[in-house]
Amino acid sequence: MPSSDQQPELPTCLFCKIVAGVIPSHKVYEDEWFYAFHDIHPAAPIHFLIVPKLHIPSMAHLTEEHTALMGQMMTLAPRLALEQGCRPYPEGGFRIVCNTGTEGGQEVHHLHMHVMGGPRPWARKQ
Ligand code: AMP
Ligand code: ZN
Repeated sequence: MPSSDQQPELPTCLFCKIVAGVIPSHKVYEDEWFYAFHDIHPAAPIHFLIVPKLHIPSMAHLTEEHTALMGQMMTLAPRLALEQGCRPYPEGGFRIVCNTGTEGGQEVHHLHMHVMGGPRPWARKQ
């Protein structure tokens, strides 16, 4: 895991402020490395975001040192999806989206994973 002093929180970043509790959020989960919260504009009946507490701007910024962190994030997602009410695979399941960069549709430049699920049809595509 990277040390937290390598990528400190960015005071101007929306998701760093949410992690710090400066901006309120509806918390789904928290541990030493991650914070998860409900998306303010849900695109599906279940829609939450998982962010690393470290300020990493996007997936495009990942290096070898983030391998363990990202592995933890990928295994956290299915666990939280079930806890939040997604039905089990294969009938249920969930969608994971990591928008990256402007053409990738990223609006908040703090790496985050959208986790969406629940009965279809959903409101819109993320
Ligand atoms: P992206 O387009 O991948 O950068 O997604 C950013 C997401 O953050 C969008 O789905 C927004 O609805 C969500 N969002 C923005 N501000 C907040 C907030 N204050 N609390 C929760 N979700 C937010
Ligand atoms: Zn940030």
